[in-house]
Amino acid sequence: MEGADNKWLDNRMESNSTESERAPAKPRVLLVEDDPVSAYLIQQLFMAQDLPLDHAGNGAIALEMQRQNRYRLVISDWMMPEMNGVDLCRAFRGLGGPYVYFILCTSKGQKSDRAEAFDAGVDDFMTKPLDRAELHIRLRVALRILEAEEVVQRQKAELESMNAKLNHLAVTDELTSLYNRRRFQEMLQEGIDEHIRTGDQVSLILADIDRFKSLNDQFGHQAGDEALRRVADIMRQNSRRHELPARYGGEEFGIILQRCGLFEAAIAAERFRSALENASWPDRPITASFGVATTGVHIQTMSELVAAADQALYSAKQKGRNRVELFPANQAVHAIGKG
Ligand SMILES: [Mg+2]
Repeated sequence: MEGADNKWLDNRMESNSTESERAPAKPRVLLVEDDPVSAYLIQQLFMAQDLPLDHAGNGAIALEMQRQNRYRLVISDWMMPEMNGVDLCRAFRGLGGPYVYFILCTSKGQKSDRAEAFDAGVDDFMTKPLDRAELHIRLRVALRILEAEEVVQRQKAELESMNAKLNHLAVTDELTSLYNRRRFQEMLQEGIDEHIRTGDQVSLILADIDRFKSLNDQFGHQAGDEALRRVADIMRQNSRRHELPARYGGEEFGIILQRCGLFEAAIAAERFRSALENASWPDRPITASFGVATTGVHIQTMSELVAAADQALYSAKQKGRNRVELFPANQAVHAIGKG
């Protein structure tokens, strides 16, 4: 009967290992025991069950071994010189990492404060000398708890990764993988807030693909989508740090330039414009018009900044497309861009 039990215990450990890479094939158990005779007896019991057991002669050694090996199951004597079992358990709990199932051993007749031990984080108690059947049952309980804990940890990791994916989806434009309009507005508002707090300028480039409708009409919507993706790639490749391209909507893109004045923003816009113009395109050449604006005395809110960039963009379209226009229109840097 006991043999069958052992097999069950082994199977449980094996199946645990196939389910999770983190769990060892058989969890190594750490025995902390200052008395060599007790340690020897317990080691014999574990050897009989073919369970790997490591031995530490005191608490300090146990903690050092834990840092190296990350034991999940610890059986510790209570009465030990220097650091007793309760203090050791407290120290184990302070290490963090995966949960450690901590069993404390008392000698018969020992006066012990189990409430204090529980408060320190002890999971279970055993009385020395350990009884083979008793030990077996306790180990089954310990493994069941550790297995349940593994499942919880695994589910937690899955949830976290799912959350990260959802967060990514929530801020990403599906077609182009750029930031979407929602995230664009958040980032722009953050830039405006920082501008109000620190006085650092934030600039905005709005870009609109030239004659996009005719591309769709002539080559189909798939070609239109392909063009949007390629424009997005070129925007991304030509963005420097603190330049955040987003899909503003339809064939319109927005690039937020943090801590950046109008002149630098105009140079950046020209960089994007010429990159598009010089790229090779499958159907027909694709260009875009650019409007640039920056925060200042008359531009203090997000809607004012967007309206200003939009007005400059409109002006670029009016003046023949594939060019960069600034707001206000009479800026000295007006010469930048194809004119
Ligand atoms: Mg002792």
